[in-house]
Amino acid sequence: MTFDEFDIDEKLLEAISYMHFEKASPIQEKAIPVALTGNDVLACAQTGTGKTATFLIPILQDLVKNGSQGTTSLIVVPTRELAIQIDQELQGFSYFTDTTSKAVYGGDKGADWDSQKRAFVEGTNVIIATPGRLIAHLRLGYVTLKNLRHLVLDEADRMLDMGFIDDIRQILSYIPEKRQTMMFSATMAPEIQKLANSILVNPQMISIAIAKPAEGVKQSAYMAYPHQKVDLITHILEQNPDYDSIIIFTSTKKLIHSIVSAIKKKISGVSVEGISSDFEQNEREDVLLRFKAKQTKILVATDVLSRGIDIKGINLVINFDVPRDAADYVHRVGRTARADAKGEAITFISEEDIPRFARIERLIEKSVDKISLPEQLGEAPVWKDIKPVQKKRKFYGPKRNGHKNPHYRKKNNQN
Ligand code: ADP
Ligand code: MG
Repeated sequence: MTFDEFDIDEKLLEAISYMHFEKASPIQEKAIPVALTGNDVLACAQTGTGKTATFLIPILQDLVKNGSQGTTSLIVVPTRELAIQIDQELQGFSYFTDTTSKAVYGGDKGADWDSQKRAFVEGTNVIIATPGRLIAHLRLGYVTLKNLRHLVLDEADRMLDMGFIDDIRQILSYIPEKRQTMMFSATMAPEIQKLANSILVNPQMISIAIAKPAEGVKQSAYMAYPHQKVDLITHILEQNPDYDSIIIFTSTKKLIHSIVSAIKKKISGVSVEGISSDFEQNEREDVLLRFKAKQTKILVATDVLSRGIDIKGINLVINFDVPRDAADYVHRVGRTARADAKGEAITFISEEDIPRFARIERLIEKSVDKISLPEQLGEAPVWKDIKPVQKKRKFYGPKRNGHKNPHYRKKNNQN
């Protein structure tokens, strides 16, 4: 299906074609028509399938058709990088319209605070914000959201993981009840359903190929002890001299620096940089820009980057360790092979990571090829097909962080 088959304005169609979007992706094909009717939407599709345009195009269509007085649309996202990226995509789609937009996120100096405040005071049409910073502005009283017609929660699964649920509820208390709400997620975990039930009104649920890496990704894994991993990276790079854009993921922030310096030491002249949530905002943006521009060949990152961030032309994702959350595997691997392209994902599995990787294989319903370690790297741990350990349910007491725990039930009256 092509975009001109949707009931959308010429101005948008022209911008869409400038952005080289020709055919709608499956989630776009299903969800855009629903969103255009003003219905609430719960959309679930894996990373890299074009969810951003799925909410931006219907929002812009409504603004073009029905006018845009003040702040009409609020998009809440988990990270600053994502806020910036969505704002950029929005600027593309809205190029021939007079829609205004602003990305609002934390961690900046005063000047940015002031420009964010101005955006609210002046009634910028579309605000794309991270929860904490948004609440900080809301509390100061100058934000008027009485014209708000659209609320989007993007990467809702990530926001829940990051503990933003209370923030989201607070934000909801500031905005009109009569609105269109759209929720996007890469996974349809029970918590997502629950959140959706509590904030969406008669939503249409649209779900596509949950939690399986894109078809174009070649997945494989090596069993390796921690001390073998950097040599293994060297080996993989030697095997693939054409690869010019590689992301190495680790769950541990602390490891970033040591991985970067070990690679620098082993491979002379290679451009490698690290990035994590510990970095200053400016630093993060600069590192990402250099990586996008292919000035940096290898980026070592934590999972902050694995969701949502869209960098084209990544040849290879290396999982330096197995992610704790199986869905994160899908997100990490989704960084490569965006929109029909080919890509490769290689995971390093240490002995203790075996149960976690087994869980991932169940989630993606696929057994990933385990390649033998090159001989010169020595003996590797052995893969065992074991049943993954059942996660114990966390039990919280009547109070959590000083707040009443709504899920708490007295022991003898539990059901
Ligand atoms: P998601 O939010 O589902 O992870 P994105 O919206 O970030 O995915 O889209 C992933 C990439 O695919 C982006 O670079 C986007 O510009 C591109 N893209 C999305 N839809 C299309 C389309 N219909 N045609 C071409 N490229 C697309
Ligand atoms: Mg997205």
